Parts: sequence; structure tokens; C-alpha cells
Amino acid sequence: ARGRVVVIGGGFGGTTAARALQRAGIGVTLVEPAETYLACPFSNEVIAGMRPLSAQAFGYDGVRASGVTIARTRAEAVDGAARQVRLADGQVLDYDRLILSPGIALRFDALPGYDAAAAQAMPHAWKAGAQTELLARQLAAMPEGGTVVMSVPGNPYRCPPGPYERASLIAWFLKTRKPRAKLIVLDAKDTFSKQRLFESAWRALYPDILEYVPLAAGGQVTSVDPGQMSVATDFSTYKADVACIIPPQRAAPIATAAGVTDRSGWCPIDPVTFESRLVPRIHVIGDAAIAGAMPKSAFAANAQAKVCADAVADLLAGRTPVAPKLVNTCYSLVAPGYGISVAGVYHPDKGVLADVEGAGGTSPLDAPDDVRKQEAVYAEDWYRTITAAVFG
Ligand code: FAD
Repeated sequence: ARGRVVVIGGGFGGTTAARALQRAGIGVTLVEPAETYLACPFSNEVIAGMRPLSAQAFGYDGVRASGVTIARTRAEAVDGAARQVRLADGQVLDYDRLILSPGIALRFDALPGYDAAAAQAMPHAWKAGAQTELLARQLAAMPEGGTVVMSVPGNPYRCPPGPYERASLIAWFLKTRKPRAKLIVLDAKDTFSKQRLFESAWRALYPDILEYVPLAAGGQVTSVDPGQMSVATDFSTYKADVACIIPPQRAAPIATAAGVTDRSGWCPIDPVTFESRLVPRIHVIGDAAIAGAMPKSAFAANAQAKVCADAVADLLAGRTPVAPKLVNTCYSLVAPGYGISVAGVYHPDKGVLADVEGAGGTSPLDAPDDVRKQEAVYAEDWYRTITAAVFG
């Protein structure tokens, strides 16, 4: 059918795009197998025992009520030449334009010893759900004086500040519940998002609990042994009572099946329309896309979805899409009532999404407590607002 759009993935990116197109009067089918979406933002708070997993759960009733057709099944294959998507339930959907927002896959071939079975002993908890609860249970059950080991991958990966927020909140959990315990954070890189803010908070709040080991100090994890509960670098082997291993990532498998991933495992796109550089009429947004300077965040996926939906509407109507400006803000909590943030503005420049010079920035390095407290409130407000806009 002419003007038919299919969206694969009912997360922050895909659901936003589907609703925006529906609002523009364009018929759209959203393909998503889950009846309940479990959001990752604020899932670190679930791990630290600060909130229940149910606070992360969102159904699709509001999305259906807005007029979007939902195919509650998995997309199995995409034929970019025939412009068809084959679904797990046997249906075949024709499209004029296809939008992919399928999120990430954890790479279980990238870190020796870390496969899907190992994740049952050493959770990544990088997709919200059973893994989140597993890590929370393991922390709650950990013996007094135990050691938690975290492994953080090199760039790019979902949610650049996420591992450091998690480290902060695990440290807070240990400080308040297991005061003789330790957290060792092993990082495959030397610099990270909001680094000075995190590090100054760690010095102030968790000096005897959290030990951070960057790449330059031997922080790159080279293998894990879930049987021994050990985590190895080139220099040391760490014994863990609880291990959270966040492995390298790539775009979810349907992106590769559609032929839109490059050798990096992610999807190169045009920064004005988010159309794939590899297969015409397929657009990729959210974590799966190579979005230049934009981080892989729910905020970014939502912003990209609106821009992409506008571009698709223009292309279907024979109009030329205009170059967008996009915004991202990522909040992190380092303790209850202590928030920090980073914001950026992005635009297409020389074929990629680049920072708008002089825009954005981070929370001030030395701010009074009430500023940190206010940012923690903003973080909660942001989560409530975006989840209501996407799923409400
Ligand atoms: P997702 O939200 O993962 O959605 C992908 C959807 O596609 C899923 O529902 C999946 O079921 C579906 N899907 C996959 N394959 C198929 C298929 N073949 N057929 C049909 N459906 C399919 N971001 C922020 O902005 N702020 C934060 O504070 C924040 N905190 C985070 C904390 C943690 C611990 C983590 C891990 C992430 C955090 N993020 C945060 C990042 C955020 O969760 C992601 O960037 C965001 O979910 C990306 O949206 P997406 O649409 O690309 O993918």
C-alpha cells in the first residue's frame, strides 16, 4: 500500500516514531513482541533497592488507543528490495518506508568466558527485566565484607554515563547496607561521560568503598570465569562475590538481517533523514544507529524518532526534509537526592551528527547540595514526562 510505514521495535525510539507518524495521518504498524516494555532509565535504582522493577513497566494500551496498529510479534526478516518485512507469526508486511529502532544486542562473542550462560552468574543487567532483578538479588544476598566487581566496555555502547551511575548507586547500597564491602570498577577506557562530576562525588561519598581502575591502570577486562567468579585483566585476577559484566554491544540482530549494519555492528545513517547509508527506504534510529556525537540514550532515541518521522512524512509527500537540530540530556544519580546532568545540541555537519559548538554542557563541578537535589528532582520529572509521552 502506498504511504505505508512499518516500525520495528516498540522502545523509546520506535514507539515515538510510530505515534508521530500516526499523528501526521500516516498509517503505521508497530512491530513489537513484548506486551510490556521495561525501561532501562532508572533501572540502576532498582538494582540498588531504591525502587521496584514495576516502576519500569509500561504497556501499549495508550499506543493502541492513539491509533497505531501493533503487531505483537517479532520481525524475522527484511527484504529491502521487495520492501517487505516477514514476521514470526507468518504475516508479511509491505512498506514504503521502514523505521528500525530495535536497540542493542549484547555481544556474547567479544569477551572470553562471557556468554549467555555466564550472564546468569555474572549479570550485565544492560536490558531491564530479569537481569536487573538478578543483580539486585545478588547484591542483597552478598556476604558482609564482600567484593563487587564491575566491568565497563569501550565506546560505543548504550547509555555512556549508565555504568558510572550504576557504580555510584551500588556504592551507596554498600555504604548503607554492607559497610565493609568493596566495589571495584574495571574500565576499558580512560575517559567517560560526566567524569569529573562522578569522580568528585565518589571522593566525597564513597572514598573507602569504590575503587575505579581505568584502562591506563590496567582496567581492561580480558576474560571472565563464571565458575570461579573471577574477572581477569592483563595484570590481575579479581575474585568477586558479585560481578556485573557489561559486555561490548552491537545493533540488535534484525538490523543485520536487514543489511543495514556495517562492520562495526552498528548502522550508518544520513543525519538529516536517518535513512540507512546501505539500504534505501530503511531508516534507523535510537541505539542501533551511528548517530555521530549523539549518545545512545532514551532521550536521544525519542528526539531522533520525531526528526525521522518528520523526514519520512516529507519523503512520502515528495517534499525535501530540512536539516534538524537535536537535543539530548542525560541525568545520573550518584546517590538518592544527588543528581548530575550533561546536555548537548547536535546538527548535521559534513555528513554526520556533530555537536553544535558552544551549546550544552554539564552540571557545575562545585555546586551546593540544593543544586544536586534539584537535579535529582529533574531526573525523576524527565522520566515521568518521557514515559508518559511515549507510552501514556
Ligand atoms: P529499546 O528501548 O531497547 O527498544 C528496542 C525495542 O525493539 C525493544 O522493545 C525490543 O523488544 C524490540 N525489538 C528488538 N528486535 C526486534 C524484532 N526483531 N522485532 C520486533 N521488535 C524488536 N537513557 C536515557 O536517556 N536516560 C537515562 O537515564 C538512561 N539510563 C539508562 C540506564 C541503564 C542501566 C541502561 C542500560 C540504559 C539507560 N538509558 C538511558 C539508555 C536507554 O535505555 C536506551 O538508549 C534506549 O532504550 C534506546 O531506545 P531504542 O528505541 O533504541 O531501543
